[in-house]
Amino acid sequence: MGKTKFMSTYCRFDLTFETGKGAKLYDSNGKEYIDFVQGVAVNCLGHSHPALVEAIKTQSEKLIHISNLYWSQNQMDLAKRLCELSDHDQVFFSNSGAEAVETALKLAKKYGRISGGESKHKILYMSDSFHGRTIGALSVTGSSDNKYQKDFMPLMPGTLSVNFNDIEDLRAKFDKDVCAVIVEPVQGEGGLVPANAEFLSAIRSLCDENDAVLIFDEVQCGMGRMGTIFAYQSFGVIPDVICMAKGLGGGFPIGATLAVKKVGDAFSYGDHGCTFGGNPLACAVALAVLKELSEGKVAEIVNEKSAYLYGKLQELAKKHSAIVELRGKGLLAGMQLSCDTSQFVNGAIDNGLLLAKAGGNVIRLMPPLNVENKDIDDAIEIIGKVLSEMENE
Ligand SMILES: *Cc1c(COP(=O)(O)O)cnc(C)c1O
Repeated sequence: MGKTKFMSTYCRFDLTFETGKGAKLYDSNGKEYIDFVQGVAVNCLGHSHPALVEAIKTQSEKLIHISNLYWSQNQMDLAKRLCELSDHDQVFFSNSGAEAVETALKLAKKYGRISGGESKHKILYMSDSFHGRTIGALSVTGSSDNKYQKDFMPLMPGTLSVNFNDIEDLRAKFDKDVCAVIVEPVQGEGGLVPANAEFLSAIRSLCDENDAVLIFDEVQCGMGRMGTIFAYQSFGVIPDVICMAKGLGGGFPIGATLAVKKVGDAFSYGDHGCTFGGNPLACAVALAVLKELSEGKVAEIVNEKSAYLYGKLQELAKKHSAIVELRGKGLLAGMQLSCDTSQFVNGAIDNGLLLAKAGGNVIRLMPPLNVENKDIDDAIEIIGKVLSEMENE
């Protein structure tokens, strides 16, 4: 068993999974589940997609890991592809979202120091945001009950929380000493709240006026989930720096931080590093994911699937008063419930559907981007059934 041999960081369901295919997972008793968690928006192509399996097989027979003391063609190809698909010029590879955020924070601090001296080190972040669990990422992660930060004080100095989507608060907190603003285009853990276009434009203008770096954390909402490869492309504001991870490897660990040249140039030799970052195997997998997304008409598919999903959710919301509000954007969908979300998630599990909670009493639906309508139909039916059961209690 071995379940006692862990630090108590996770509150796990009593489920052990053995295999998966597309939108489906199978537990150790052979029970089938529709998986709308997908590793928390990680498996953008579903479980064990043939293109990923092939990339892992082929590349692992050639070369798995070297070191960033040397070049690998896969890493060069992936960096080139990411820059071709975005408005950005330079990439730093790591292994996770928190690391992609750490990279962005360090880069912004270095940029600030060069452009404005030692005092230009302040970083603004948003209320109800999530950027990861390392000390740096935690220092810019805001929650109303301070649940993430409270036991780890003191954190990185110079960070300041701004009310999300509140332009006045943003203006009040901005000054020449701000070197960066970090924001999720759609807040994931915080409860699937998209940023207003006006709010993002206001951040962009203030960053330009104050020579501060605008960082978009697209770790959860990026990689096609909004219907565009990068989330910013669905919001009409171009950030200076983008943090990516989750969907980038489709299930294989990889993180990336992209920057425009002006900002990326701030890093010089020895400023940052990552042993595993961008190893040939991880890059081969990410290249395969990008190939599938960019050649697979991701915009059309995601827009069609998300319209279908939201249509079904709206029908459900009419029938069930427990659905307070539909949230999210693209295939990062959510429902705010008035009932107990833990009980709801457990009910869904009993009926063979995996869903995740987010802040603000929200249930997240993160199907693979290539989800079939049949799986959406089945998921909706289960959601309706569980809500009815809870209403009749
Ligand atoms: C998950 C997440 C992170 C952290 O990613 P890890 O890979 O768990 O370190 C950072 N930012 C956002 C928006 C996330 O959703």
